[in-house]
Amino acid sequence: MKIEYNEKLKKLPPYLFIEIDRKKKEAIEKGKDIISLGVGDPDLPTPEHIIESIQEAVTKSTNHHYPFGVGLLSYREAIGKWYKKRFNVNLDVDEICALIGSKEGIGHIHLGFVNPGDIVLIPEPGYPVYNTGTILSDGIAHFMPLLAENNFLPDLDIIPENVLKKAKLIFVNYPNNPTAAIAPKEFYIKLIEFAKRNNIIVVSDAAYSEIYYDENEKPCSFLEFPGAKEVGVEFHSLSKTYNMTGWRIGWVCGNKDIVAGIAKVKDNYDSGVFQAVQEAAVAALTSSQRCVENFRKIYKERRDVLVGGLRELEWQVSLPKASFYVWAKIPEGYTSAQTVSKLLDLAAIICTPGSGMGKSGEGYVRFSLTVSGSRIKEAIKRIGLVKW
Ligand SMILES: *Cc1c(COP(=O)(O)O)cnc(C)c1O
Repeated sequence: MKIEYNEKLKKLPPYLFIEIDRKKKEAIEKGKDIISLGVGDPDLPTPEHIIESIQEAVTKSTNHHYPFGVGLLSYREAIGKWYKKRFNVNLDVDEICALIGSKEGIGHIHLGFVNPGDIVLIPEPGYPVYNTGTILSDGIAHFMPLLAENNFLPDLDIIPENVLKKAKLIFVNYPNNPTAAIAPKEFYIKLIEFAKRNNIIVVSDAAYSEIYYDENEKPCSFLEFPGAKEVGVEFHSLSKTYNMTGWRIGWVCGNKDIVAGIAKVKDNYDSGVFQAVQEAAVAALTSSQRCVENFRKIYKERRDVLVGGLRELEWQVSLPKASFYVWAKIPEGYTSAQTVSKLLDLAAIICTPGSGMGKSGEGYVRFSLTVSGSRIKEAIKRIGLVKW
């Protein structure tokens, strides 16, 4: 029998970071000493106290059953307290739903709110799941370019009226992957007004809110602003904050009815997050946040080595204020894909082509700060030897 995928699956582009991971493994097999600045997966270990917490939680038989539903009350209460402390936002437990990593919810939200032919407003370059979720729900993507001249914020004023009429969701992501931009308060205020006026649900992806470099310029939450809860939700994750990408735990919070819609989709697709993982997440959110401070310090050192080194080589890079990415303009005369190939072939460095994350990413590559400072120094040395 010939197995035939449906039209939606055929339309999905190969998942960028799985492709990059494949290239890396291929090069390592050939015996190359690869420095991987491609995928955004922290190299640092999950803090010990979180690991200890799951070790205990895993032995409890009450945690061995289907977790079902929106998540443990203790997990949602811990999230509520964390939001209050970090953003001064009040959240009720029915405004929060546990997720199997925030990617899971970001990919599923469309199923609750997008009818075939509806439009989804998506920033590009951007996290691929905003678009793949749209394709899988028979929605239509309208891409909003993130350009340096607009500080990598989408220009809401140029979205055509006929697009706005059919738009159901707008995705925003600050601190931004891949551009490392943060959004100012005025942007969120304008966004909320835009959403109300056009009846469009705001979906804020705040996975990097804790990876910032300046205590005086902490990223804000969309939910801090008046009216936000009427129009949208925010996705959050423990993956980047606590180096827990493998654990698969995140949440969505904000508008109660939107959260309930996502929960309803999930009731029919999965049966919740392993409770032992939720208990460990409670430990992460409620105990001392010193470990996170320490991670920020480490990323900052790495950032300064990479940005300083690239600038010495006359690359044009701005200093990121948040996220663990460096969004670098590539040498003139090359495309993003050519630059990535050249860096792999001549310097054994893996990085992400800007164009792979959206057409406005052409002209850039993304470096992740997820290897040690000494490896970044080595990477700079190797880049310095490449002739352009
Ligand atoms: C890493 C990342 C996420 C979240 O990942 P999970 O591990 O699924 O929680 C969400 N959005 C962006 C932009 C990311 O880079």
